[in-house]
Amino acid sequence: MKHMPALFVGHGSPMLALEHNEKTETLRKLGEDIVREFGKPEGIAVVSAHWFTRGTFVNKAAAPEQIYDMYGFPPELYRVRYPVPGSPELASRVAALTGAKETEDWGVDHGVWTVLLHLFPQADIPVATLSTNGLASPEKLYGMGRELAALRNEGYLLLASGNIVHNLRAIEWDNPKGSPQADRFDAFIRDALTRGDHATVLRYAEHPDASYAVPTPDHFLPLLPILGAAEGESPVFFNTVRELGALSATGVVYGL
Ligand code: ZN
Repeated sequence: MKHMPALFVGHGSPMLALEHNEKTETLRKLGEDIVREFGKPEGIAVVSAHWFTRGTFVNKAAAPEQIYDMYGFPPELYRVRYPVPGSPELASRVAALTGAKETEDWGVDHGVWTVLLHLFPQADIPVATLSTNGLASPEKLYGMGRELAALRNEGYLLLASGNIVHNLRAIEWDNPKGSPQADRFDAFIRDALTRGDHATVLRYAEHPDASYAVPTPDHFLPLLPILGAAEGESPVFFNTVRELGALSATGVVYGL
């Protein structure tokens, strides 16, 4: 069995689901590359920024509900269907490896489906969504990634969906690019990842732009389990753009 990749995707606005551009094209190609190179994954364990909990949970539903957990968007976004099956087997493996609690609460939230519908448009690879434990330290989340790494040898893909820079209060609607703070913080994280310096990433809060880029930890933290699952491996970056001033679309894949 080949060693499946582990990747982090910057999802940004939920409107990503309806977009067809360079970013979504990159995701589509990435999904195709993974299937061509490794075969279709047995399942995907997805850490979502939008399931931010006290403690770590994993959804074990065989037919998880698609959740439209975003507000004020055009009606067509609420008509997007991504009817992906769940994976009770994968959920139970995740629970055994990490101590995550299995639950049928929650489902496939927009952090997950807006990304997966571009990566794997057929919706035929079962998904087990994991929550982001808001009570855990960066080190602990990194350690959870080390525990999840075993899944990569069992045919499972590891995915996390969040954003390296995510500050909704600082959104600049007329700016298609990034603010100086967003650009600096994104470059700082990419540079540390390129050097394999995960310790610096875990201390992200010490960076002068951290309070701007990561005003709340929910979108940044999902990156950390991916790094823990890919210790010693070299990153390949994709979609390294900033948008609306205060969002980063930067993604990173290991093992592809
Ligand atoms: Zn989000």
